Amino acid sequence: ESFQDIDMGEIIMGNVALTRYTRPTPVQKYAIPIIKSKRDLMACAQTGSGKTAAFLLPILSQIYTDGPGEALNAAKASGTDNGKYGRRKQYPIALVLAPTRELALQIYDEARKFSYRSRVRPCVVYGGADIGQQIRDLERGCHLLVATPGRLVDMMERGKIGLDYCNYLILDEADRMLDMGFEPQIRRIVEQDTMPHKGIRQTLMFSATFPKEIQNLEILNFRNGSIVVN
Ligand code: AMP
Repeated sequence: ESFQDIDMGEIIMGNVALTRYTRPTPVQKYAIPIIKSKRDLMACAQTGSGKTAAFLLPILSQIYTDGPGEALNAAKASGTDNGKYGRRKQYPIALVLAPTRELALQIYDEARKFSYRSRVRPCVVYGGADIGQQIRDLERGCHLLVATPGRLVDMMERGKIGLDYCNYLILDEADRMLDMGFEPQIRRIVEQDTMPHKGIRQTLMFSATFPKEIQNLEILNFRNGSIVVN
């Protein structure tokens, strides 16, 4: 089996070829078809398993093949809305939440590799760094946002990010986010009434462990949930 068996569109496939990944890892092999079939997913996957590409590849190819269709147009049109503070507000189509700056940057780097030459623009925001610079980067356009939860809440409060068109929500290292006390911020993000509800939004969760707290994150509203244990 190879990546050729997974239909992901030419540009994304070309970028996969550039990375020189030859064959999908187990989590990629099992998770990618589930994600492409639009089902929600909870996957047990450790760092090093290839989980990042497992969610980025099907989502980036979906965003890409949808464009210049509805999702990209909607995001683009609404991107001209003025935020509360008068500057361009961005409406990412996919949101990846990660517990730490390091993980967020790793996901962002991988997203940049895979979206090269594709018109899909990834951005990253995380706490402990200059917010002005992150805002300026967002204002250049953002289709896929990688964020730590606290900084994202800050960006939303400043009117820089709207989740009205966020059709993909990914929680990476969900167990670690809860351990670090991010549950209130995650609730804040997910429970916004502008966030697309189940039936529209696809929710994916990756976690090294599956404690009760994770299984009980009912706010995520998993539908047709599948569990992939790696
Ligand atoms: P992750 O588990 O997503 O943090 O990925 C761990 C490392 O494996 C990263 O450096 C990836 O670039 C790399 N990787 C992911 N998928 C593959 C693959 N199919 N073949 C080879 N390397 C991969």
